[in-house]
Amino acid sequence: MLFSKLLLPTLKDTSSDVNIISVKLMIKSGMIRKLSSGLYEFLPLAVKIIRKIENIIRNEMNYIGGQEIILPTMFPKKIFIETSRWDIYGKELFKFKDRKNSDFCLSPTSEEVVVDFIRKNIVSYKQLPIMLYQIGSKFRDEIRPRFGVLRSKEFLMKDAYSFHINKKSLNNHYDIVLNAYRNIFTRCGLNFQIVEATSGAIGGSSSHEFIAITNNGEDQIVLCDCGYGANVEKAEALSINQDKEIVSSIEEVATIGIKSSIDVAKFFKVPLAKLIKTIIYIANDIPIVVLIRGDHKVNEEKLKLLLSANRLFFADEKIIFSITNTIIGFIGPIGLKNIKIIADLSVINIQNAIVGSNKENYHIKNVNYDRDYKADIVADIRKISKNDICPKCKKNKLIFSRGIEVGHIFKLNTKYSRLMNATYIDEKCNKKLIEMGCFGIGITRIIASAIEQFHDINGIIWPKEISPFDAVIIPINFFDKETKKITFKIYEKLSKCGIDVLLDDRDYRVSYKFKDADLIGIPYKIIINCMEKDRGIIEIKSRCNKNIESTFLNYEESIHKILKILNKL
Ligand code: ATP
Ligand code: MG
Repeated sequence: MLFSKLLLPTLKDTSSDVNIISVKLMIKSGMIRKLSSGLYEFLPLAVKIIRKIENIIRNEMNYIGGQEIILPTMFPKKIFIETSRWDIYGKELFKFKDRKNSDFCLSPTSEEVVVDFIRKNIVSYKQLPIMLYQIGSKFRDEIRPRFGVLRSKEFLMKDAYSFHINKKSLNNHYDIVLNAYRNIFTRCGLNFQIVEATSGAIGGSSSHEFIAITNNGEDQIVLCDCGYGANVEKAEALSINQDKEIVSSIEEVATIGIKSSIDVAKFFKVPLAKLIKTIIYIANDIPIVVLIRGDHKVNEEKLKLLLSANRLFFADEKIIFSITNTIIGFIGPIGLKNIKIIADLSVINIQNAIVGSNKENYHIKNVNYDRDYKADIVADIRKISKNDICPKCKKNKLIFSRGIEVGHIFKLNTKYSRLMNATYIDEKCNKKLIEMGCFGIGITRIIASAIEQFHDINGIIWPKEISPFDAVIIPINFFDKETKKITFKIYEKLSKCGIDVLLDDRDYRVSYKFKDADLIGIPYKIIINCMEKDRGIIEIKSRCNKNIESTFLNYEESIHKILKILNKL
Protein backbone atom coordinates (compact mmCIF):
# COMPACT_ATOMS: atom_id res chain seq x y z
CA MET A 1 0.00 0.00 0.00
CA LEU A 2 1.30 3.44 -0.91
CA PHE A 3 0.92 6.04 1.80
CA SER A 4 0.09 8.71 -0.81
CA LYS A 5 -2.98 6.69 -1.86
CA LEU A 6 -4.19 5.89 1.65
CA LEU A 7 -6.93 7.88 3.35
CA LEU A 8 -5.00 8.46 6.55
CA PRO A 9 -5.74 11.95 7.87
CA THR A 10 -3.35 12.13 10.82
CA LEU A 11 -3.67 15.14 13.10
CA LYS A 12 -1.22 17.02 15.33
CA ASP A 13 -3.75 17.13 18.14
CA THR A 14 -7.39 16.56 19.07
CA SER A 15 -9.90 18.85 20.68
CA SER A 16 -9.48 19.23 24.42
CA ASP A 17 -12.76 17.46 25.25
CA VAL A 18 -11.23 14.11 24.20
CA ASN A 19 -10.13 12.87 27.59
CA ILE A 20 -9.11 9.27 27.06
CA ILE A 21 -5.87 8.23 25.36
CA SER A 22 -7.36 5.53 23.08
CA VAL A 23 -9.85 7.97 21.51
CA LYS A 24 -7.22 10.68 21.27
CA LEU A 25 -4.82 8.39 19.44
CA MET A 26 -7.53 6.86 17.24
CA ILE A 27 -8.51 10.35 16.07
CA LYS A 28 -4.92 11.62 15.77
CA SER A 29 -3.80 8.55 13.83
CA GLY A 30 -6.61 8.97 11.32
CA MET A 31 -8.40 5.77 12.34
CA ILE A 32 -11.76 7.24 13.29
CA ARG A 33 -13.84 10.38 13.15
CA LYS A 34 -16.86 11.20 15.31
CA LEU A 35 -20.22 11.60 13.59
CA SER A 36 -22.15 12.35 16.78
CA SER A 37 -22.31 11.13 20.37
CA GLY A 38 -21.57 7.37 20.37
CA LEU A 39 -21.32 7.14 16.57
CA TYR A 40 -18.01 6.85 14.75
CA GLU A 41 -16.74 6.54 11.19
CA PHE A 42 -14.01 3.96 10.79
CA LEU A 43 -11.39 4.92 8.20
CA PRO A 44 -9.18 2.48 6.23
CA LEU A 45 -6.49 2.10 8.90
CA ALA A 46 -9.10 1.09 11.49
CA VAL A 47 -10.79 -1.27 9.05
CA LYS A 48 -7.48 -3.03 8.44
CA ILE A 49 -7.12 -3.59 12.19
CA ILE A 50 -10.74 -4.72 12.49
CA ARG A 51 -10.22 -7.26 9.69
CA LYS A 52 -7.11 -8.61 11.41
CA ILE A 53 -9.00 -9.05 14.68
CA GLU A 54 -11.95 -10.61 12.85
CA ASN A 55 -9.61 -13.08 11.16
CA ILE A 56 -8.14 -14.16 14.49
CA ILE A 57 -11.67 -14.59 15.85
CA ARG A 58 -12.89 -16.52 12.77
CA ASN A 59 -9.83 -18.72 12.89
CA GLU A 60 -10.35 -19.66 16.55
CA MET A 61 -14.15 -19.98 16.30
CA ASN A 62 -13.97 -22.16 13.18
CA TYR A 63 -11.32 -24.31 14.84
CA ILE A 64 -13.75 -25.26 17.61
CA GLY A 65 -16.56 -25.98 15.18
CA GLY A 66 -18.30 -22.59 14.99
CA GLN A 67 -20.20 -21.85 11.78
CA GLU A 68 -20.52 -18.28 10.56
CA ILE A 69 -23.95 -16.89 9.70
CA ILE A 70 -25.41 -13.43 9.12
CA LEU A 71 -28.62 -12.52 10.92
CA PRO A 72 -30.72 -9.38 10.38
CA THR A 73 -29.79 -6.36 12.49
CA MET A 74 -33.42 -5.26 12.89
CA PHE A 75 -35.93 -7.45 14.66
CA PRO A 76 -39.73 -7.45 14.83
CA LYS A 77 -41.12 -6.60 18.28
CA LYS A 78 -43.06 -9.86 18.59
CA ILE A 79 -39.90 -11.90 18.94
CA PHE A 80 -38.55 -9.68 21.73
CA ILE A 81 -41.93 -9.85 23.48
CA GLU A 82 -41.59 -13.62 23.81
CA THR A 83 -38.68 -13.20 26.24
CA SER A 84 -39.94 -9.89 27.72
CA ARG A 85 -36.68 -8.26 26.65
CA TRP A 86 -38.65 -5.57 24.77
CA ASP A 87 -39.30 -4.21 28.28
CA ILE A 88 -36.30 -5.57 30.19
CA TYR A 89 -33.82 -3.91 27.87
CA GLY A 90 -35.86 -0.75 28.36
CA LYS A 91 -34.45 2.46 26.93
CA GLU A 92 -31.21 0.78 25.81
CA LEU A 93 -33.16 -0.77 22.92
CA PHE A 94 -33.44 1.36 19.77
CA LYS A 95 -37.12 1.00 18.82
CA PHE A 96 -38.83 2.22 15.67
CA LYS A 97 -41.79 1.55 13.33
CA ASP A 98 -41.91 0.58 9.69
CA ARG A 99 -44.29 2.19 7.16
CA LYS A 100 -47.03 -0.26 8.16
CA ASN A 101 -46.73 0.94 11.74
CA SER A 102 -45.24 -2.36 12.95
CA ASP A 103 -42.72 -2.16 15.79
CA PHE A 104 -39.08 -3.08 15.32
CA CYS A 105 -35.83 -2.72 17.21
CA LEU A 106 -32.17 -2.65 16.27
CA SER A 107 -30.19 -5.67 17.45
CA PRO A 108 -28.53 -5.17 20.85
CA THR A 109 -27.63 -8.92 20.70
CA SER A 110 -29.35 -11.80 18.89
CA GLU A 111 -30.49 -14.52 21.31
CA GLU A 112 -34.16 -14.34 20.29
CA VAL A 113 -33.50 -14.40 16.57
CA VAL A 114 -31.08 -17.29 16.69
CA VAL A 115 -33.36 -19.28 19.03
CA ASP A 116 -36.23 -18.64 16.62
CA PHE A 117 -34.10 -20.04 13.81
CA ILE A 118 -33.11 -23.08 15.88
CA ARG A 119 -36.68 -23.89 16.97
CA LYS A 120 -37.78 -23.83 13.34
CA ASN A 121 -34.84 -25.77 11.93
CA ILE A 122 -33.46 -28.13 14.56
CA VAL A 123 -35.58 -31.18 15.31
CA SER A 124 -33.44 -34.04 16.50
CA TYR A 125 -30.69 -34.66 19.03
CA LYS A 126 -28.67 -35.81 16.00
CA GLN A 127 -28.37 -32.17 14.87
CA LEU A 128 -26.86 -31.07 18.20
CA PRO A 129 -24.56 -29.67 19.46
CA ILE A 130 -24.18 -26.76 17.09
CA MET A 131 -22.54 -23.35 17.45
CA LEU A 132 -23.42 -20.44 15.15
CA TYR A 133 -21.68 -17.09 15.17
CA GLN A 134 -21.74 -13.81 13.35
CA ILE A 135 -19.68 -10.63 13.24
CA GLY A 136 -21.60 -7.42 12.80
CA SER A 137 -23.01 -4.19 14.18
CA LYS A 138 -24.91 -4.05 17.44
CA PHE A 139 -26.92 -1.10 18.66
CA ARG A 140 -27.49 0.08 22.21
CA ASP A 141 -28.84 3.41 23.37
CA GLU A 142 -26.30 3.63 26.19
CA ILE A 143 -27.20 6.06 28.99
CA ARG A 144 -23.75 7.57 28.76
CA PRO A 145 -22.05 6.86 25.45
CA ARG A 146 -18.46 7.76 26.31
CA PHE A 147 -14.84 6.79 26.02
CA GLY A 148 -15.09 6.74 22.23
CA VAL A 149 -15.54 3.30 20.75
CA LEU A 150 -15.37 1.70 24.20
CA ARG A 151 -19.01 2.54 24.87
CA SER A 152 -20.72 3.61 21.70
CA LYS A 153 -24.28 3.41 20.41
CA GLU A 154 -23.26 1.28 17.44
CA PHE A 155 -20.37 -1.13 17.75
CA LEU A 156 -18.94 -4.30 16.24
CA MET A 157 -19.49 -7.52 18.08
CA LYS A 158 -18.80 -11.16 17.45
CA ASP A 159 -21.74 -13.01 18.95
CA ALA A 160 -21.88 -16.79 19.09
CA TYR A 161 -24.68 -19.08 20.25
CA SER A 162 -24.35 -22.77 21.04
CA PHE A 163 -27.14 -25.35 21.43
CA HIS A 164 -26.91 -28.64 23.31
CA ILE A 165 -28.91 -31.69 24.34
CA ASN A 166 -27.91 -31.42 28.00
CA LYS A 167 -25.95 -29.47 30.63
CA LYS A 168 -22.93 -31.74 30.32
CA SER A 169 -22.55 -30.92 26.65
CA LEU A 170 -23.04 -27.20 27.35
CA ASN A 171 -20.51 -27.25 30.19
CA ASN A 172 -17.91 -29.02 28.03
CA HIS A 173 -18.44 -26.59 25.20
CA TYR A 174 -18.33 -23.58 27.53
CA ASP A 175 -14.83 -24.60 28.64
CA ILE A 176 -13.77 -25.04 25.01
CA VAL A 177 -15.02 -21.55 24.11
CA LEU A 178 -13.36 -20.11 27.21
CA ASN A 179 -10.09 -21.53 25.97
CA ALA A 180 -10.67 -20.26 22.41
CA TYR A 181 -11.31 -16.79 23.88
CA ARG A 182 -8.08 -17.08 25.83
CA ASN A 183 -6.31 -17.77 22.51
CA ILE A 184 -8.09 -14.87 20.76
CA PHE A 185 -7.14 -12.25 23.34
CA THR A 186 -3.61 -13.64 23.64
CA ARG A 187 -3.17 -13.45 19.87
CA CYS A 188 -4.54 -9.90 19.93
CA GLY A 189 -1.64 -9.19 22.29
CA LEU A 190 -3.82 -8.02 25.19
CA ASN A 191 -2.90 -8.20 28.83
CA PHE A 192 -6.15 -9.63 30.21
CA GLN A 193 -7.76 -11.53 33.09
CA ILE A 194 -10.65 -13.98 33.06
CA VAL A 195 -13.08 -13.29 35.91
CA GLU A 196 -16.42 -14.56 37.19
CA ALA A 197 -19.22 -12.19 36.24
CA THR A 198 -22.92 -11.46 36.62
CA SER A 199 -25.23 -12.15 33.69
CA GLY A 200 -27.18 -8.85 33.56
CA ALA A 201 -30.09 -8.50 31.11
CA ILE A 202 -29.03 -11.58 29.15
CA GLY A 203 -29.61 -13.90 32.11
CA GLY A 204 -28.43 -17.48 32.69
CA SER A 205 -26.60 -19.40 35.40
CA SER A 206 -22.92 -18.77 34.98
CA SER A 207 -20.75 -16.28 33.18
CA HIS A 208 -17.17 -15.08 32.74
CA GLU A 209 -15.76 -11.80 31.54
CA PHE A 210 -12.47 -11.19 29.77
CA ILE A 211 -11.05 -7.97 31.13
CA ALA A 212 -8.24 -6.06 29.42
CA ILE A 213 -6.29 -4.59 32.32
CA THR A 214 -5.98 -0.79 32.25
CA ASN A 215 -6.49 2.01 34.75
CA ASN A 216 -8.92 3.71 32.38
CA GLY A 217 -11.30 0.73 32.42
CA GLU A 218 -14.89 1.07 33.59
CA ASP A 219 -14.90 -2.38 35.17
CA GLN A 220 -13.45 -3.09 38.56
CA ILE A 221 -12.25 -6.60 39.31
CA VAL A 222 -10.74 -8.45 42.24
CA LEU A 223 -7.97 -10.99 41.87
CA CYS A 224 -6.26 -13.37 44.24
CA ASP A 225 -2.97 -15.27 43.99
CA CYS A 226 -4.96 -18.48 44.54
CA GLY A 227 -6.46 -18.05 41.05
CA TYR A 228 -9.77 -16.46 42.06
CA GLY A 229 -10.92 -13.56 39.94
CA ALA A 230 -14.29 -11.82 39.77
CA ASN A 231 -15.94 -8.63 38.69
CA VAL A 232 -16.72 -6.60 41.85
CA GLU A 233 -20.41 -6.82 40.88
CA LYS A 234 -20.14 -10.57 41.28
CA ALA A 235 -17.39 -11.06 43.89
CA GLU A 236 -18.65 -12.98 46.88
CA ALA A 237 -18.32 -11.08 50.16
CA LEU A 238 -17.90 -13.34 53.18
CA SER A 239 -19.83 -12.69 56.35
CA ILE A 240 -17.79 -10.77 58.92
CA ASN A 241 -17.94 -11.66 62.57
CA GLN A 242 -17.48 -9.04 65.26
CA ASP A 243 -15.96 -9.33 68.70
CA LYS A 244 -18.39 -10.85 71.18
CA GLU A 245 -19.97 -8.41 73.62
CA ILE A 246 -22.37 -8.73 76.47
CA VAL A 247 -25.78 -8.29 74.90
CA SER A 248 -27.48 -5.22 76.42
CA SER A 249 -31.10 -4.09 76.46
CA ILE A 250 -32.34 -1.86 73.69
CA GLU A 251 -32.53 1.83 74.44
CA GLU A 252 -34.05 4.72 72.51
CA VAL A 253 -31.75 7.75 72.30
CA ALA A 254 -32.65 11.25 71.12
CA THR A 255 -30.50 12.18 68.11
CA ILE A 256 -31.96 15.50 67.07
CA GLY A 257 -31.03 16.34 63.48
CA ILE A 258 -28.43 13.57 63.30
CA LYS A 259 -29.13 11.66 60.11
CA SER A 260 -26.03 10.57 58.21
CA SER A 261 -24.25 7.35 59.19
CA ILE A 262 -21.03 9.25 59.90
CA ASP A 263 -22.78 11.70 62.23
CA VAL A 264 -24.66 8.89 64.00
CA ALA A 265 -21.44 6.90 64.51
CA LYS A 266 -19.73 10.07 65.87
CA PHE A 267 -22.63 10.79 68.20
CA PHE A 268 -22.60 7.28 69.68
CA LYS A 269 -18.76 7.17 69.62
CA VAL A 270 -18.75 3.83 67.75
CA PRO A 271 -17.23 2.70 64.45
CA LEU A 272 -19.50 2.70 61.37
CA ALA A 273 -19.44 -1.12 61.52
CA LYS A 274 -21.74 -0.90 64.57
CA LEU A 275 -24.50 0.74 62.55
CA ILE A 276 -27.20 -0.92 60.48
CA LYS A 277 -28.29 1.17 57.49
CA THR A 278 -31.91 0.54 56.52
CA ILE A 279 -32.69 1.26 52.88
CA ILE A 280 -36.06 0.98 51.12
CA TYR A 281 -35.89 -0.14 47.50
CA ILE A 282 -38.55 -0.78 44.90
CA ALA A 283 -37.82 -4.14 43.29
CA ASN A 284 -40.03 -5.01 40.32
CA ASP A 285 -42.58 -2.42 41.59
CA ILE A 286 -42.71 -3.87 45.15
CA PRO A 287 -41.11 -2.07 48.13
CA ILE A 288 -38.50 -4.05 50.09
CA VAL A 289 -36.27 -3.26 53.05
CA VAL A 290 -32.54 -3.83 52.80
CA LEU A 291 -30.24 -3.91 55.84
CA ILE A 292 -26.54 -3.32 55.38
CA ARG A 293 -23.69 -2.63 57.82
CA GLY A 294 -22.84 1.08 58.22
CA ASP A 295 -19.43 0.74 56.54
CA HIS A 296 -20.68 -1.46 53.68
CA LYS A 297 -22.41 -0.71 50.38
CA VAL A 298 -25.32 -2.55 48.77
CA ASN A 299 -24.40 -4.50 45.63
CA GLU A 300 -27.49 -3.90 43.52
CA GLU A 301 -26.52 -6.58 40.99
CA LYS A 302 -26.50 -9.22 43.74
CA LEU A 303 -29.79 -7.90 45.06
CA LYS A 304 -31.41 -8.04 41.62
CA LEU A 305 -30.25 -11.60 41.15
CA LEU A 306 -31.47 -12.63 44.60
CA LEU A 307 -34.91 -11.16 43.96
CA SER A 308 -35.06 -12.03 40.22
CA ALA A 309 -35.70 -8.32 39.74
CA ASN A 310 -35.16 -6.56 36.44
CA ARG A 311 -35.97 -3.16 37.90
CA LEU A 312 -34.49 -1.93 41.16
CA PHE A 313 -34.39 1.62 42.46
CA PHE A 314 -34.60 3.65 45.68
CA ALA A 315 -38.07 4.33 47.05
CA ASP A 316 -39.08 7.99 47.17
CA GLU A 317 -39.76 9.93 50.38
CA LYS A 318 -43.51 9.41 50.12
CA ILE A 319 -43.26 5.63 49.95
CA ILE A 320 -40.62 5.61 52.69
CA PHE A 321 -42.94 7.60 54.97
CA SER A 322 -45.91 5.34 54.22
CA ILE A 323 -43.86 2.30 55.27
CA THR A 324 -41.84 3.64 58.20
CA ASN A 325 -43.72 6.70 59.37
CA THR A 326 -40.48 8.62 59.30
CA ILE A 327 -37.90 10.23 57.04
CA ILE A 328 -34.52 9.10 55.69
CA GLY A 329 -31.96 9.16 58.48
CA PHE A 330 -34.19 7.62 61.13
CA ILE A 331 -35.40 4.42 59.43
CA GLY A 332 -34.78 1.11 61.20
CA PRO A 333 -35.80 -2.55 61.00
CA ILE A 334 -37.65 -2.81 64.32
CA GLY A 335 -41.42 -3.05 64.05
CA LEU A 336 -41.68 -2.94 60.24
CA LYS A 337 -44.68 -4.94 59.07
CA ASN A 338 -45.95 -6.40 55.79
CA ILE A 339 -42.73 -5.82 53.96
CA LYS A 340 -39.92 -8.18 52.98
CA ILE A 341 -36.69 -7.55 54.90
CA ILE A 342 -33.41 -8.61 53.36
CA ALA A 343 -30.33 -8.48 55.54
CA ASP A 344 -26.73 -8.81 54.47
CA LEU A 345 -24.79 -11.71 56.02
CA SER A 346 -22.61 -9.37 58.07
CA VAL A 347 -25.54 -7.40 59.49
CA ILE A 348 -26.86 -10.23 61.63
CA ASN A 349 -23.46 -10.61 63.30
CA ILE A 350 -23.47 -7.06 64.68
CA GLN A 351 -23.95 -7.14 68.42
CA ASN A 352 -25.54 -4.17 70.15
CA ALA A 353 -26.09 -2.41 66.83
CA ILE A 354 -27.41 1.11 66.34
CA VAL A 355 -30.44 1.55 64.08
CA GLY A 356 -33.00 4.21 63.24
CA SER A 357 -36.10 4.12 65.42
CA ASN A 358 -38.72 4.87 62.74
CA LYS A 359 -39.35 8.05 64.75
CA GLU A 360 -37.88 11.34 63.67
CA ASN A 361 -34.89 12.47 65.79
CA TYR A 362 -34.41 9.14 67.56
CA HIS A 363 -32.15 6.14 67.16
CA ILE A 364 -32.10 2.86 69.06
CA LYS A 365 -28.95 1.29 70.49
CA ASN A 366 -28.08 -2.27 71.59
CA VAL A 367 -30.12 -3.87 68.82
CA ASN A 368 -29.52 -7.58 68.22
CA TYR A 369 -30.67 -9.92 65.47
CA ASP A 370 -33.42 -12.38 66.35
CA ARG A 371 -34.22 -10.75 69.67
CA ASP A 372 -35.11 -7.29 68.29
CA TYR A 373 -35.60 -7.73 64.56
CA LYS A 374 -35.69 -10.49 61.98
CA ALA A 375 -35.10 -10.72 58.26
CA ASP A 376 -36.98 -12.74 55.67
CA ILE A 377 -33.80 -13.36 53.73
CA VAL A 378 -30.19 -13.25 54.94
CA ALA A 379 -27.79 -13.28 52.03
CA ASP A 380 -24.64 -11.79 50.55
CA ILE A 381 -25.88 -8.51 49.10
CA ARG A 382 -22.92 -6.23 49.67
CA LYS A 383 -20.10 -4.90 47.56
CA ILE A 384 -16.74 -6.43 48.26
CA SER A 385 -14.40 -3.95 49.94
CA LYS A 386 -10.65 -3.44 50.16
CA ASN A 387 -10.63 -5.03 53.64
CA ASP A 388 -12.21 -8.29 52.48
CA ILE A 389 -10.31 -11.53 52.08
CA CYS A 390 -10.58 -13.90 49.11
CA PRO A 391 -13.83 -15.90 49.22
CA LYS A 392 -12.09 -18.90 47.63
CA CYS A 393 -8.90 -19.46 49.63
CA LYS A 394 -10.33 -17.54 52.61
CA LYS A 395 -6.78 -16.41 53.38
CA ASN A 396 -5.31 -13.81 51.04
CA LYS A 397 -6.18 -10.15 50.73
CA LEU A 398 -7.79 -9.40 47.38
CA ILE A 399 -6.06 -7.30 44.73
CA PHE A 400 -8.32 -4.66 43.16
CA SER A 401 -7.71 -3.81 39.54
CA ARG A 402 -9.45 -1.95 36.72
CA GLY A 403 -10.08 -2.96 33.14
CA ILE A 404 -12.21 -3.02 30.02
CA GLU A 405 -14.65 -5.86 29.37
CA VAL A 406 -13.66 -7.13 25.92
CA GLY A 407 -15.52 -10.42 26.03
CA HIS A 408 -18.35 -12.00 27.98
CA ILE A 409 -19.54 -15.62 27.91
CA PHE A 410 -22.70 -17.05 29.44
CA LYS A 411 -24.31 -20.38 30.22
CA LEU A 412 -27.91 -19.50 29.43
CA ASN A 413 -29.14 -23.05 30.07
CA THR A 414 -32.82 -23.30 29.10
CA LYS A 415 -33.76 -19.66 29.82
CA TYR A 416 -34.45 -18.77 26.17
CA SER A 417 -35.51 -22.23 24.96
CA ARG A 418 -38.16 -22.37 27.71
CA LEU A 419 -39.52 -18.90 26.95
CA MET A 420 -39.49 -19.52 23.20
CA ASN A 421 -40.24 -23.23 23.22
CA ALA A 422 -37.10 -24.40 21.46
CA THR A 423 -37.03 -28.17 21.77
CA TYR A 424 -35.48 -31.27 20.23
CA ILE A 425 -36.51 -34.92 20.13
CA ASP A 426 -34.15 -37.17 22.10
CA GLU A 427 -33.14 -40.79 21.42
CA LYS A 428 -36.24 -42.07 23.19
CA CYS A 429 -38.53 -39.80 21.19
CA ASN A 430 -39.07 -37.42 24.14
CA LYS A 431 -39.36 -33.69 23.56
CA LYS A 432 -36.68 -31.80 25.52
CA LEU A 433 -35.67 -28.17 25.97
CA ILE A 434 -32.42 -27.18 24.30
CA GLU A 435 -29.54 -26.04 26.55
CA MET A 436 -27.86 -22.89 25.32
CA GLY A 437 -24.66 -20.86 25.68
CA CYS A 438 -23.83 -17.43 24.29
CA PHE A 439 -20.47 -15.81 23.74
CA GLY A 440 -19.72 -12.16 22.89
CA ILE A 441 -16.59 -10.23 21.94
CA GLY A 442 -16.48 -6.46 21.52
CA ILE A 443 -14.26 -6.02 18.47
CA THR A 444 -14.10 -2.25 18.59
CA ARG A 445 -13.29 -2.49 22.31
CA ILE A 446 -10.29 -4.72 21.55
CA ILE A 447 -8.79 -1.93 19.42
CA ALA A 448 -9.25 0.73 22.08
CA SER A 449 -8.02 -1.62 24.83
CA ALA A 450 -4.86 -2.42 22.87
CA ILE A 451 -4.17 1.31 22.50
CA GLU A 452 -4.83 1.93 26.20
CA GLN A 453 -2.31 -0.78 27.02
CA PHE A 454 0.32 -0.11 24.35
CA HIS A 455 1.25 3.48 23.58
CA ASP A 456 3.92 6.01 24.38
CA ILE A 457 4.33 9.74 24.04
CA ASN A 458 4.75 9.38 20.24
CA GLY A 459 1.68 7.28 19.58
CA ILE A 460 0.34 3.75 19.35
CA ILE A 461 2.50 0.61 19.60
CA TRP A 462 0.42 -2.14 17.97
CA PRO A 463 0.77 -5.74 19.09
CA LYS A 464 2.14 -7.49 15.99
CA GLU A 465 -0.86 -9.64 15.05
CA ILE A 466 -3.37 -6.80 14.95
CA SER A 467 -1.12 -4.08 13.56
CA PRO A 468 -2.58 -2.50 10.41
CA PHE A 469 0.78 -3.02 8.67
CA ASP A 470 3.72 -5.26 9.49
CA ALA A 471 6.24 -2.64 8.45
CA VAL A 472 6.54 0.83 6.92
CA ILE A 473 9.25 1.68 4.37
CA ILE A 474 10.56 5.21 4.70
CA PRO A 475 12.91 6.36 1.92
CA ILE A 476 15.05 9.28 3.07
CA ASN A 477 15.15 10.87 -0.36
CA PHE A 478 12.49 9.19 -2.45
CA PHE A 479 13.25 11.33 -5.49
CA ASP A 480 16.81 10.09 -5.72
CA LYS A 481 16.82 7.51 -8.55
CA GLU A 482 18.76 4.81 -6.77
CA THR A 483 16.76 5.20 -3.56
CA LYS A 484 13.53 4.88 -5.51
CA LYS A 485 14.79 1.75 -7.28
CA ILE A 486 15.85 -0.04 -4.14
CA THR A 487 12.76 1.10 -2.25
CA PHE A 488 10.41 -0.46 -4.81
CA LYS A 489 12.53 -3.59 -5.01
CA ILE A 490 12.22 -4.11 -1.25
CA TYR A 491 8.55 -3.12 -1.27
CA GLU A 492 7.71 -5.66 -3.97
CA LYS A 493 9.77 -8.45 -2.47
CA LEU A 494 8.26 -8.00 1.01
CA SER A 495 4.73 -7.78 -0.42
CA LYS A 496 5.31 -11.00 -2.39
CA CYS A 497 6.46 -12.70 0.81
CA GLY A 498 3.10 -11.91 2.41
CA ILE A 499 4.24 -8.91 4.41
CA ASP A 500 1.67 -6.17 4.79
CA VAL A 501 3.91 -3.23 4.06
CA LEU A 502 3.21 0.47 3.80
CA LEU A 503 5.47 2.56 1.59
CA ASP A 504 5.69 6.20 2.60
CA ASP A 505 6.06 7.72 -0.86
CA ARG A 506 4.80 11.15 0.19
CA ASP A 507 6.73 14.26 -0.64
CA TYR A 508 7.17 15.21 3.01
CA ARG A 509 10.07 15.83 5.33
CA VAL A 510 11.54 12.62 6.74
CA SER A 511 11.00 13.76 10.32
CA TYR A 512 7.29 14.13 9.53
CA LYS A 513 7.17 10.62 8.06
CA PHE A 514 8.88 9.21 11.15
CA LYS A 515 6.36 10.97 13.39
CA ASP A 516 3.44 9.52 11.42
CA ALA A 517 4.94 6.02 11.48
CA ASP A 518 5.29 6.24 15.26
CA LEU A 519 1.82 7.73 15.68
CA ILE A 520 0.06 4.99 13.72
CA GLY A 521 2.10 2.41 15.61
CA ILE A 522 3.64 0.25 12.88
CA PRO A 523 5.95 -2.32 14.56
CA TYR A 524 8.90 -1.88 12.13
CA LYS A 525 10.38 0.93 10.06
CA ILE A 526 12.57 0.06 7.11
CA ILE A 527 14.61 3.13 6.23
CA ILE A 528 16.24 3.44 2.81
CA ASN A 529 19.09 5.90 2.49
CA CYS A 530 21.46 5.71 -0.48
CA MET A 531 23.20 8.96 0.39
CA GLU A 532 25.92 7.52 2.67
CA LYS A 533 26.50 4.10 1.13
CA ASP A 534 29.49 3.13 3.26
CA ARG A 535 27.33 3.37 6.41
CA GLY A 536 24.66 1.10 4.96
CA ILE A 537 21.71 1.82 2.74
CA ILE A 538 18.94 -0.13 4.48
CA GLU A 539 18.07 0.04 8.15
CA ILE A 540 15.35 -1.72 10.17
CA LYS A 541 14.10 -0.26 13.45
CA SER A 542 11.57 -1.66 15.87
CA ARG A 543 8.84 0.63 17.27
CA CYS A 544 9.21 -0.78 20.75
CA ASN A 545 12.52 -2.61 21.06
CA LYS A 546 15.73 -0.69 20.52
CA ASN A 547 17.72 -3.95 20.54
CA ILE A 548 16.17 -4.94 17.21
CA GLU A 549 18.00 -2.49 14.99
CA SER A 550 20.13 -3.50 12.03
CA THR A 551 21.83 -1.74 9.13
CA PHE A 552 22.60 -3.45 5.83
CA LEU A 553 24.96 -2.55 3.04
CA ASN A 554 22.94 -3.95 0.18
CA TYR A 555 19.58 -5.34 -0.86
CA GLU A 556 20.67 -9.00 -1.01
CA GLU A 557 22.06 -8.94 2.50
CA SER A 558 19.05 -7.12 3.92
CA ILE A 559 16.06 -8.99 2.58
CA HIS A 560 16.71 -12.33 4.25
CA LYS A 561 17.37 -10.70 7.61
CA ILE A 562 14.38 -8.37 7.38
CA LEU A 563 12.13 -11.35 6.67
CA LYS A 564 13.61 -13.12 9.66
CA ILE A 565 13.00 -10.13 11.94
CA LEU A 566 9.43 -9.89 10.68
CA ASN A 567 9.05 -13.60 11.42
CA LYS A 568 8.25 -14.61 7.88
CA LEU A 569 11.09 -17.13 7.56
P1 ATP B 1 -21.04 -3.44 29.61
O1 ATP B 1 -21.23 -4.04 30.96
O2 ATP B 1 -19.68 -2.86 29.41
O3 ATP B 1 -22.15 -2.52 29.22
P2 ATP B 1 -22.33 -5.67 28.47
O4 ATP B 1 -22.29 -6.64 29.59
O5 ATP B 1 -23.56 -4.88 28.24
O6 ATP B 1 -21.08 -4.67 28.58
P3 ATP B 1 -22.47 -7.77 26.54
O7 ATP B 1 -23.93 -7.66 26.37
O8 ATP B 1 -21.92 -8.94 27.25
O9 ATP B 1 -21.88 -6.41 27.14
O10 ATP B 1 -21.81 -7.63 25.07
C1 ATP B 1 -20.69 -8.40 24.61
C2 ATP B 1 -19.48 -7.51 24.37
O11 ATP B 1 -19.80 -6.40 23.54
C3 ATP B 1 -18.93 -6.88 25.63
O12 ATP B 1 -18.08 -7.77 26.30
C4 ATP B 1 -18.21 -5.67 25.11
O13 ATP B 1 -16.90 -6.04 24.71
C5 ATP B 1 -19.00 -5.28 23.88
N1 ATP B 1 -19.88 -4.11 24.16
C6 ATP B 1 -21.01 -4.07 24.89
N2 ATP B 1 -21.56 -2.85 24.89
C7 ATP B 1 -20.74 -2.08 24.11
C8 ATP B 1 -20.76 -0.70 23.70
N3 ATP B 1 -21.74 0.11 24.06
N4 ATP B 1 -19.76 -0.24 22.91
C9 ATP B 1 -18.76 -1.06 22.51
N5 ATP B 1 -18.68 -2.37 22.85
C10 ATP B 1 -19.65 -2.88 23.65
MG1 MG C 1 -24.01 -2.87 28.60
